[in-house]
Amino acid sequence: MKRRSLFKLAGVAAAVAVTPVSKLIADTKVKSIENRRSGKTVLIIGGGFGGLTVAKELRKKDKSIEVTIIEKKDIFMSCPFSNSYLGGLDDVGLDTLTHDYYSASVKHGYSFVQAEVTQIDRKNQHITTTNGNFTYDILVLSPGIAYDWEKQFPTWSKEKVADVAHSCPAALMPGSEHLALKRQLENMDDGNVIIVPPAKGKYRCPPAPFERTSMIANYMKNEEIRGKVIVLDTRDGKFSKGAAFQESWRDIFPDIIEYKGLTEVIDVDTKVKIVTYIEYQNKKDYIGTTKTLKYQVCNLIPINKCSPVVKMAGVAVNESGYAVMDGYSFRSKTDQNIYVVGDAVSHKIPPSGQTAIWGAKRAAGQIADQVNGRKSDFKANLPARAANVCFSMVSGKPEEAIMVTHTFSADPSGVLKGKGTVPKSQDGSGKFRSKSTAKLTREWFSGVKRELFS
Ligand SMILES: Cc1cc2nc3c(=O)[nH]c(=O)nc-3n(C[C@H](O)[C@H](O)[C@H](O)COP(=O)(O)OP(=O)(O)OC[C@H]3O[C@@H](n4cnc5c(N)ncnc54)[C@H](O)[C@@H]3O)c2cc1C
Repeated sequence: MKRRSLFKLAGVAAAVAVTPVSKLIADTKVKSIENRRSGKTVLIIGGGFGGLTVAKELRKKDKSIEVTIIEKKDIFMSCPFSNSYLGGLDDVGLDTLTHDYYSASVKHGYSFVQAEVTQIDRKNQHITTTNGNFTYDILVLSPGIAYDWEKQFPTWSKEKVADVAHSCPAALMPGSEHLALKRQLENMDDGNVIIVPPAKGKYRCPPAPFERTSMIANYMKNEEIRGKVIVLDTRDGKFSKGAAFQESWRDIFPDIIEYKGLTEVIDVDTKVKIVTYIEYQNKKDYIGTTKTLKYQVCNLIPINKCSPVVKMAGVAVNESGYAVMDGYSFRSKTDQNIYVVGDAVSHKIPPSGQTAIWGAKRAAGQIADQVNGRKSDFKANLPARAANVCFSMVSGKPEEAIMVTHTFSADPSGVLKGKGTVPKSQDGSGKFRSKSTAKLTREWFSGVKRELFS
């Protein structure tokens, strides 16, 4: 196998990629701070897409606002573009996805504290972390998501959940899960990769599992690994950018990608590497047929729920734990000193990095108004056209991608809502995918990194 002969070389490449990262980790260690409220003291929980944007925008708007980000990780890692890393696209390494926190905080004049938030006391406007205690005038929650294993597999023990989570990394949250999945792909023999998208409900970046399907097929094809990428999906082929993905799978990877809709995973035996699932004939088939599949690599992405940090704050949440908002604003309905951005909001807009940036900019405007005693217009600049543009790579050689754009507007129900369009390419091919969209994908990601850090 071609991949085996390259194996030693790949090991060297990985080591090279990791060296600058570990150096950056050392740079980001920041001492504990005990702060005092100034009337304009803003604490942000979570240094992801939403939190970093709020911090930068607040400082841009008003240098007298004191901003601190509290983030449990010591290095930023991007989920967007991580499927390109798994797919082995040219010049995409771990260093493409990571960034230090320190340089941006110095440049924009906010504080960065590496710590995990463990308690939020709204009454006293005080939070407890693993690295000191802090008070705030305004608290911003941007903690992202969590996996709801208990809801999806209520009969599984804690040990079973830990075993499957470890062996079949979901890689929907930034960090080591992506590295684990990459390593498993690099070490796999001929055989199947099974991808299980979240079974139901709102989840982070709806196209992500399907872009990952394309990218892993790309990796297997290039590395001449014999096997299939099998998607076990509860849906019946209707998913985000579904027609565009399925067109590209038929055209580019007909012998590699197999999409099995109306299936439900019920067990994973990580020792013998077998997934057990039920396959339903149609939506009226309530019994189905139980089947098994052997795998080399399994990417099981559980149902999502909101990060427990939002519940910790004791603000109103919906049934999946997402924060209930004060109308069209990014303020909590319960507490006028708490704002929520990113995937943790219950607005009817897709949970994406681009949306997190859009919402965070609006939230920053609303916070700056509040601390300066001004009134905000929560409907300003709505509807917002192409407020979310989400790209997905579908092949590597040549590089091609598809996209969806969303317009956000004020829904009469009182929340923000998004409406999406998946355009065909403009190159006359009649297909959804194009090389120019792939170029835009790379440009978008470079732009996002500039937006967060420069
Ligand atoms: C594979 C994949 C591909 C994607 N592709 C795209 C794309 O192409 N385009 C796009 O727009 N979006 C994409 N996304 C979605 C995007 O990554 C998320 O929507 C975005 O990161 C949400 O931002 P956030 O700030 O809500 O959460 P995050 O970026 O996850 O940040 C949350 C932060 O909070 C921290 N945190 C959590 N709890 C605590 C605590 N107790 N104390 C301190 N810190 C805490 C976490 O460590 C984390 O850094 C993709 C996602 C995935 C998984």
